[in-house]
Amino acid sequence: MNLFAEIESEVRSYCRTWPVVFDRAVGSRMYDENGRSYIDFFAGAGALNYGHNHPELKRALLAYLERDSVTHGLDMQTVAKRDLLAAMREYVLAPRGMDYKVQFPGPTGTNAVESALKLARKVTGRESVVSFTNAFHGMTLGSLSVTGNSMKRGGAGIPLVHATPMPFDHYLDDQVPDFLWFERLLDDSGSGLNTPAAVIVETVQGEGGINVARAEWLRALADLCHRHGILLIVDDVQMGCGRTGPFFSFEIAGITPDIVCLSKSIGGYGMPLALTLLRPELDVWEPGEHNGTFRGNNPAFVTATRALELFWADDLLPAQTATKGDVVRDALTSIAAKHADLGASVRGRGLAWGLAFEDPSIAPKVATAAFDRGLLVETAGSEGEVAKLMPALTIGHDELAEGLSILADAVAAAR
Ligand code: PMP
Repeated sequence: MNLFAEIESEVRSYCRTWPVVFDRAVGSRMYDENGRSYIDFFAGAGALNYGHNHPELKRALLAYLERDSVTHGLDMQTVAKRDLLAAMREYVLAPRGMDYKVQFPGPTGTNAVESALKLARKVTGRESVVSFTNAFHGMTLGSLSVTGNSMKRGGAGIPLVHATPMPFDHYLDDQVPDFLWFERLLDDSGSGLNTPAAVIVETVQGEGGINVARAEWLRALADLCHRHGILLIVDDVQMGCGRTGPFFSFEIAGITPDIVCLSKSIGGYGMPLALTLLRPELDVWEPGEHNGTFRGNNPAFVTATRALELFWADDLLPAQTATKGDVVRDALTSIAAKHADLGASVRGRGLAWGLAFEDPSIAPKVATAAFDRGLLVETAGSEGEVAKLMPALTIGHDELAEGLSILADAVAAAR
């Protein structure tokens, strides 16, 4: 429904799922312009792990603006950037014994992916990249070419130019035990398979439908990359910043990627920010080789820094995420059992959950029924067959329970 009909200047000026005009948002609630309230289980597709307008983050941002600090800084060295780099070191990298250089590749997730792909190709002098079925890495040409979704690529006429798609762990119902077959191909020089520059992977595919990779699978992948000198890029744009529990989603597997892409919740407040983390010896960038006008988004540096101080100085958030995740898993398991005839199944980790249905027409109906009852839920998966639940990590227990109860009603109504 086009609610801006009187203006008609926006390309595709309608929203796929929610036929209202939103106005305000606080914590895990959004409000439309008529004052109706909705519980938000969408959280900016992972950009709002700390909820909407968190008071401490807002205070930091307002104080920064109040003193006429730098807002736009390109690649200038600023106090806000220095503070963010220090906070990354203090709260994220040092406690995990990680040694990464931090690059500011541009404002959004796709910028982090582009810089990672370009860097991997430059460092190795190789061209191709391995990505996975149902992967989502972004909407620009490079990131789209490693996105495993033909609808998204096809419209733009982008084949998997430099990418070899491989089955993701989840793809064959966990029936892909190892990478022996891939290793055989890599060793078989006569077959003509060129060693790729990199493998890019999400540890939990978000847009792909909350497909969770097993820790052993990730370890085998990291090991294969290591043995063949292939750079491992973990795209943690959606699953990083605590979405699956720990700060980095790959921590569960005990692996250390060569390059890590962060965006979405790293800005803390829904502010555009992306970071590419790279092993120091991979820093072969020439000055100006990867730049962009908005990669010095200083207000986002401020909210990002404050979010790291607030949420990552101790281990409270991962523990709370695990507890809330158990609540979501139990509720979804009971909903799935009640609707076993729909082939409903549950997958997830931390606070990223999916309720998948055999019939792809069900999840969109669930999202609509949920909206009618005051709950925002997105769909995901190659056919939109998964109701995707990603509440803010800071959601209150009451709101979480209320949202899950609305969801149960919505599934009953959608069948
Ligand atoms: N990588 C992943 C895993 C994502 O989920 C997304 C966004 N959904 C992107 C990259 C692209 O990020 P952005 O939309 O900010 O460019």
